[in-house]
Amino acid sequence: MTAGWQTTPPLDNAQPGGWVLARCSQGFLADSNGVLFPREWLKRQELPHVAEHGLGYFDGEPVWLLVLDQPADVPGCHWQGLRQFMLQADYPTFRMLSFAEQIGSWSSNHRFCGRCGSRNRQVPGERCMRCPECGLDSYARISPSMIVLVTRGDEILLARSPRFVPGMYSTLAGFVEPGESVEECVAREVREEVGVEVSDLQYLGSQGWPFPHSLMLGFHAEYAGGDITPQVDEIEDARWFHIEQLPPLPMPRSIARYLIDLYLARRLGHPEPVLPR
Ligand SMILES: [Zn+2]
Repeated sequence: MTAGWQTTPPLDNAQPGGWVLARCSQGFLADSNGVLFPREWLKRQELPHVAEHGLGYFDGEPVWLLVLDQPADVPGCHWQGLRQFMLQADYPTFRMLSFAEQIGSWSSNHRFCGRCGSRNRQVPGERCMRCPECGLDSYARISPSMIVLVTRGDEILLARSPRFVPGMYSTLAGFVEPGESVEECVAREVREEVGVEVSDLQYLGSQGWPFPHSLMLGFHAEYAGGDITPQVDEIEDARWFHIEQLPPLPMPRSIARYLIDLYLARRLGHPEPVLPR
């Protein structure tokens, strides 16, 4: 038995037993035991689900996902958003929910063919929605994006989006444009968001991020010139912070926090942190 969460090719929906998650746009169904329900029991509740997807294995037990359009009432249960789980759940559970969130939103958003409008069908044994009329296949979308910590000696450049919780500052991030390399994206996004130039890019690791379907590619960059000029409407504030006087930072499991903690550790000669996987 493998402990923790393991993604596999789609499980056969005809296979009985196992565990199930239920997801709608408001979040996941939960009770006092957590988010995994005995699959046969939850099916007897006759939730108005639009799809079922076999996801993988949690502690060696098979797990499916029921996709709902709307939250449904189940006695003793409530619906809770993914961000809340991110703060509270253990890491294997968060990874499972992160995967389920992306499969669930893909399934909900591809019920109809984007080319001809016919109703798509699930392809058995593949994570694919196929149009029976025109044959268009739709797979779960992953959006590559970069995240970068820009530094200048004992100072690090952090910024605030208006969407952040009050007081928190983070690293810069943005989506890769079609045809662009991720290194070009780092230089362009930093220039657009704060008006500075960077050099000496170093790739440090990646993290899947389910808000909504990013693959974050994490970098460190050296400051190379320019004065901070925050991008109107995107960046509420951006500043150089001395490494001993930092503002509230992103949550510890995030790659943003890892990039910051790694730089601090290297600068201060402390043991290096590990990016959660
Ligand atoms: Zn079609």
